[in-house]
Order: sequence, then structure tokens, then C-alpha cells
Amino acid sequence: MPNLARVIARGISGKMRTISAPNCPKIYSIFETSTPPEENGITGFIVRGTTANTGMLRTEPLWSLLSNSGVTVGMANVPATFPVKPVNGYMISGMLTRGKNCEDGLLCSPKLSEVQGGDAVYPPTMVAELESNVGDFLIDCARMPAAKDFLGHEVAAVYEWLARVSATRDQQRKLFDYLLTNHPTDFTFLVQSCEDRVGHWLYPIQPYNVGYNPKLHTIQVNAFPDQYRALDKVLGTILKHVDENTNLFIISDHGIKPLRERESHDAHKDHAGTTPIIAKHDFEDGDEVPGVFVAMGPGIKKGARIMGLPMSIFDIAPTILHIYSTPVPTRMRGRVLTEIFEDTKGANVVSVR
Ligand SMILES: [Zn+2]
Repeated sequence: MPNLARVIARGISGKMRTISAPNCPKIYSIFETSTPPEENGITGFIVRGTTANTGMLRTEPLWSLLSNSGVTVGMANVPATFPVKPVNGYMISGMLTRGKNCEDGLLCSPKLSEVQGGDAVYPPTMVAELESNVGDFLIDCARMPAAKDFLGHEVAAVYEWLARVSATRDQQRKLFDYLLTNHPTDFTFLVQSCEDRVGHWLYPIQPYNVGYNPKLHTIQVNAFPDQYRALDKVLGTILKHVDENTNLFIISDHGIKPLRERESHDAHKDHAGTTPIIAKHDFEDGDEVPGVFVAMGPGIKKGARIMGLPMSIFDIAPTILHIYSTPVPTRMRGRVLTEIFEDTKGANVVSVR
């Protein structure tokens, strides 16, 4: 991953604490509000029987705080941002967007033209522009096939699904490039999610791992590492738009690792449905599967690493507000990550140069 390596060498990186039973809608809502799920209203994929949506947000998110203080905001494929909300810029929704044949919006990857039950693009006038310049792109990465849909023809199912994953990512890369070229904003928030889906289904496990199925797990052992190679190419496209005055943060909402004991399919219903999963990020014993934090930019430490887990997902919104000199609301639970900046000391920061 040469592009990621370049950012890590020129910036500061470390692990990021997440919360128990992390999932994308929940964690991205914490990223944006720095408040616990019970307070911000987005407690998971399904909230009181309904798919999580922006109408449920009870605390003002980062994109609204920035917009209201005059910062221009651009967002694409951020989980749980459907239906989109007005911002001082643009917003294109991601995971949990509803569409044709996927009325519940659960990881169904509708095309832009198939969106139903709300707007996926703000301002609405941007839809025609995106259709003619980027195409009728797939929103987010699809869920994995159900067991009944691949039993007996595993090889074709794996390759077909991975081809769709690649097509989705290619379209997202084109979308990001188009947006950064034609609609530059002060704050831009872009998300990739295919690594998660591929990891749940095709993590490169060994015969001694729980859930190993030689018919499935010998087909494409590079599927999971390939996602990271592909992600690095997307990062390369983004880096073309990052000049010396730009701060870049690379964050993930959680990590993933193989199952340790057999579980019922219901244990991970939101994500997998009836897909036999082999890796996950929500271990009931509280085992942490931390996320990633990398930052690079003017005033940010270079060639540094943060040891341990002093950083949390709650700290992202306060830190970004600080960078834009926007007041941090007192309700926010996180802190400004002062130790990432060149002019401050941090006990857990070590130089890796
Ligand atoms: Zn997941």
C-alpha cells in the first residue's frame, strides 16, 4: 500500500479506540456528534424497527456545525446519511440508502437512478450533473450473497460478487475524483466500505479457523488483501488533490478478525443476513478490534506514532472542529487530539523516523 505508507511516513498514526459492538451507522454517528448512541439517536442498523436514517439524529453533527460556521462541506458515501440533509456544499449518501428491491435500505447498493424513499444527493440539481459526468453509479458496497444463493456454485458466486465490489469501488473512485476536481470544499468526507463486506465473508482463514469451508475459502485467498490494495489506489486518487495546505485524516470505524467460536447467523444479522460469516468486529466478550487513525498536514507531527489507545472515535469531531477554529460544543464527549500537532507534547507519541 504505497500511498498509505507515504501518508504514514509524513504524518502521525496509531490505533483508535472504538466502542463495543461497533457497526458503521453507530460509529459514524459518534464520529460526527461525539456523543454516545443513546444520546445521538443512532444505536445501530435498525432503530426501534426502522432502518437508521438522518431523521433520527438528535444531536447536531459535524457537517451541520461546520456548515453553520461558514465552512464549505462535501460528503460522499458516508454511512447513515440518507436521506441527505442540506449542507453548505454537497452531500451524497452511502450505506443504508433505500432503493428499488431494497426498501429496507440494508446494504443493498442501489444505483443512483434506483434510489427510493428520500434524496441521495444534495442539492437535488446535482443528480443530473453526476449522471452525465460520473454515470449511474452504485451507492455503497452490496451485502454478501446468502448461503442458498451460492451453495453448489461457489466459484462463480465469489467471482461475480467480487466483480461487483470492484465495479462499485471504480465508480466511487471516479465520483471522488470528479467531486474533488469540480466541487472542492473546505471540509470533505469520503468513505469506502467494501473492505468490511469482503472481510466478513472472505477473510483469508486457515483450516483450523472457525467456519472454514474449503469449497469457499480456497477460491480467492487474496480477496481480502486485494481490497486494501484497491483502497490504496483510491487513496492515490485522493492524494492528487491534497496540497501542502491540506490536512488529511484516514480513519476506520473498527477493525475485523476471525471468529473464535461458532455462532448462529442471527448473531450478525444486520450485516450478513443468511451469509455464513467468518470474521467480525463485534465480540461479545468486549474484545477490542480497534480502528485506524492516520493524520497528515501542516502543523501535524511528521514520522510519529501514537502508542497504546489514547485516541477514541469520540475525539474526531472535536479535533476537526478545532482545525476549522469552530467552537466545540460542551455536549461533545471527546477531546481535541492536541498531541497530533507539532507544537504540543504527548506522552504516548514516539518518533518512527
Ligand atoms: Zn462489518
